[in-house]
Amino acid sequence: MSYQVLARKYRPQQFDEIVAQEHVTRTLKNALKSGRVSSGYLFTGPRGTGKTTTARILAKALNCIDGPTPTPCGKCPSCKEIIASSSLDVLEIDAASNTGVDDIRTLRENVRYLPTSGKKRIYIIDEVHRLSGSAFDALLKTLEEPPPHVVFIFATTEPFKVPETIRSRTQRYDFHRVSVGNLSEHLKKIAESEKIEIDDGALFMVARKADGSVRDGMSLLDQMSAYAGEKITAQSVIEALGLIDRQFYFDYIAAIAAKDASLALEMIKKLVDSGIEIPEFCQGLADHFRHLLILQNAREPEKLLELSESEMESFQKQVDYFTSGDLLRMIKIITDMTIDLKSGIDPRLLLETNTLKLATMESTVLFEDILAHLSESEGIEDESEIESDLFGTPATSKPAPVHPTPENSPEPAPPPDPISIPGEVRAINLPMVQNSWPNYIESLKRSNPMLAALLAMAEIREVRDNVITAVFYNAGGTSKQVVEKPHYMSIISESLRDFFKTNLKVKFEVDLNKKNNIAPKASPQPEKLDTEKLLAEDDRLRNIVERFDGEVVGRKKVED
Ligand SMILES: [Zn+2]
Repeated sequence: MSYQVLARKYRPQQFDEIVAQEHVTRTLKNALKSGRVSSGYLFTGPRGTGKTTTARILAKALNCIDGPTPTPCGKCPSCKEIIASSSLDVLEIDAASNTGVDDIRTLRENVRYLPTSGKKRIYIIDEVHRLSGSAFDALLKTLEEPPPHVVFIFATTEPFKVPETIRSRTQRYDFHRVSVGNLSEHLKKIAESEKIEIDDGALFMVARKADGSVRDGMSLLDQMSAYAGEKITAQSVIEALGLIDRQFYFDYIAAIAAKDASLALEMIKKLVDSGIEIPEFCQGLADHFRHLLILQNAREPEKLLELSESEMESFQKQVDYFTSGDLLRMIKIITDMTIDLKSGIDPRLLLETNTLKLATMESTVLFEDILAHLSESEGIEDESEIESDLFGTPATSKPAPVHPTPENSPEPAPPPDPISIPGEVRAINLPMVQNSWPNYIESLKRSNPMLAALLAMAEIREVRDNVITAVFYNAGGTSKQVVEKPHYMSIISESLRDFFKTNLKVKFEVDLNKKNNIAPKASPQPEKLDTEKLLAEDDRLRNIVERFDGEVVGRKKVED
């Protein structure tokens, strides 16, 4: 017996044998079972996902001696003819071929004749979106009033290019790209029945290279067994298909994470010497960063990443190498480089310079983290002081908030309520909140330094019916967005209740006009700065100056 390519040998003959398109085959089987046959079907989806194979099975199912049936017998004359592609009642037209127009013309002439032996005349038109204008016009008349014995099955990889006239007259079935997991499982079964030994790593590589196409996966398996004989290993797949070993990426990334530029450059040399195409390496590298990013951020990363178990383990080991911010910047570097590669600059030079860029990149520092760090490092010296001063004036020993606060309240603050019941609504007025705000911020710092730092920048403008209006000035737009996140809003309302012993709501506003109604008017006289005194008195200022290696050059009022 002569050798038969795997794709042909294992071409599915039943709906149940179609790989990973159950959503399509189940619907078709149910329709056939209940005898509901449409006069037009449109199969869409990527190449190699089983569209024309399903079309042929559907043709058999309709014309089988038992038909319409969800399980064509495969033995009756009609089934046999369709399997052998010799049925006069099933005509396959490749719209992309030169003969497309002629075929359609013949189709139009023949369409009125009754089927010779079968029950239906079935026209399978592949890549229908590529029909020429004249061929399409020829088809249109038949489509508008199809004779009852005619069934059209259209297949396309580009459904959006299919004219509306076809789409509106057909039942549409979308075939999905076959996942690497499903495809490698399928290939494994075939390898087993062909007595081909192939390890899981190799299977995944072949399936990944096939990129969702069962047909491509089969011919790659063919190719591999011809190359490697009866035992296919990951190494032989790498050699035969010219792939880059995934381990190379893991090693390269490890060198980048260790900021070992020298090692990374040596690896580039090895890569170039082995004749690997640099654009291909860049694509793999961006993909590697993407995997790490998804592992960090997705709730169920295994659903988004098509990895074997051992690959997943290897990625998990690298998941903490970089922050998401770093990964995004690294992906940007690689994608920029991919664009530069097309400009004709020496690829090796580009890869080397960008490798240096990656290996020497400073880690991303979030502004939020700086704020949190600053708040934490200020610390709280005496917590009892805060407790005893709940409704009093801000303690002088504490760092002042970064915005100006009223030095004297318009009205004297009423004494604190001696008995307060949590959860009960108790009248709170503006001076009470203004006076206690710095202490409230202090109390919040312990549990949530970042939120406290943001709230310290807000100013209390109004308190009415237990609703506090807090205002952010100038660049406060982002602060407002952050504190208004539901998570923070619930922390705020809880901590306000704990602190003020009553239910309070807070409303944030942004005042870009910087019209500050509450703070005292700015002094018009220019002031002389004693920077050393300022630094000695203000912990927060000193902290910022030290951390950023800065100096105090002047002071501005917020409302200036
Ligand atoms: Zn049959």
